[in-house]
Amino acid sequence: MDLEQLRELDANDSLASKRVEFKIPEGLIYLDGNSLGPLPAGIEQRLQEMITQQWGQDLISSWNKHQWIDLPVKVGERIAPLLGAAPGQVVCCDSISVNLFKLLGAALQLNSPRRVVLSQQDNFPTDLYTAQGIAGLLGDARCQLKQVSSDALYDALDETVAVLMLTHVNFRSGAMHDMRELTRRAHDVGALVIWDLAHSAGAVPLALDADNVDFAVGCGYKYLNGGPGAPAFVYVAERLQQRVEQPLSGWMGHSAPFNFDAGYAAAAGAKRFLSGTPPILSMAVLDAALDVFDGVDMQDVRAKSQQLCQMFLGLMRQLELLPKMPCASPANDKERGSQLAFQHGDAFAIAQALIDQQVIVDFRAPDILRFGFCPLYTRFEDIWHAVHRLSEIVTSGTYKQEIFNQRGAVT
Ligand SMILES: *Cc1c(COP(=O)(O)O)cnc(C)c1O
Repeated sequence: MDLEQLRELDANDSLASKRVEFKIPEGLIYLDGNSLGPLPAGIEQRLQEMITQQWGQDLISSWNKHQWIDLPVKVGERIAPLLGAAPGQVVCCDSISVNLFKLLGAALQLNSPRRVVLSQQDNFPTDLYTAQGIAGLLGDARCQLKQVSSDALYDALDETVAVLMLTHVNFRSGAMHDMRELTRRAHDVGALVIWDLAHSAGAVPLALDADNVDFAVGCGYKYLNGGPGAPAFVYVAERLQQRVEQPLSGWMGHSAPFNFDAGYAAAAGAKRFLSGTPPILSMAVLDAALDVFDGVDMQDVRAKSQQLCQMFLGLMRQLELLPKMPCASPANDKERGSQLAFQHGDAFAIAQALIDQQVIVDFRAPDILRFGFCPLYTRFEDIWHAVHRLSEIVTSGTYKQEIFNQRGAVT
């Protein structure tokens, strides 16, 4: 494989024109869109207008005049097609952690007296922390978190399980679960499912409705490019909506918030999963960021993502890097999301040395170097440069320098 071949792939790439819809600093190779998506080109203007006109001039009348009050539903409806969800089932709000708390509370209540929340040992920690918090609040008799390894999930799915709570694409390894099959098996034993789509939404095609999923959450600031701390989203299958109650009942999820009734009465549909006042500026940014998905077929995104990963692995092999840093992601590309993980004792320092060379990646404790591939702006040529710079760093040992070994608060 040589640079010319990769440039040829870029020249024939149907998604290549999407790159100009992002503001990526000149010379930067950004392989970290799975942690924080880059700035879409239309955002600055949208935010400027929000601030000067809507907030600055129209002030509180903007809740009606500029439909601020409808944003959680409107943005949810724009995310829905990326999830394979029909209208009326997705709302945009809060963070994944807060939304998981709501969903776990709702699902446990719906499936009472069962109490087991089955999850995976190496799930993203916040998912496990949220379940631990619910268990502390409800007590052992109503919630018990059971964590097993990925291989043991099928065996652990039995008639005691109230909720199967999993992350679709593992944040470290990129391993992707079979959503349809696990959901089916959970339903066979009478369990409900909650899927965390943090590394899936906007990265891989999803079919929540067709797969019969009950609940899901996902992230606004990763592959959806909504900016730091962008609000998350919740999916609640239509068939369950009128039967579920969520524990963070707040006025935005009330059926008539401006009646200011003393008693709570849940809004119809997925809207009952709203709690407090939406962060309008952040939500408007996410709304504008979703423009980049207009006209994009997720199957094309998936095909390019797999090709980018294959090229990356091919170059790692060609430059003989794999014996030094084995791939920790599934070898079969049907079994992984849009990222690759490599194991190395000095993964942190290597990530810092790569960042110093304008290749933005991240480190995940204890020993993973993680590369995320977002097909909307990553070029095949970028892959060539990234692997060659990595090879130079690993072979020369420059990462051993002191400056590459100092850790900040965020890694
Ligand atoms: C990034 C990520 C989160 C983030 O949760 P927030 O509460 O929105 O900060 C949750 N779950 C997974 C799997 C993630 O990768």
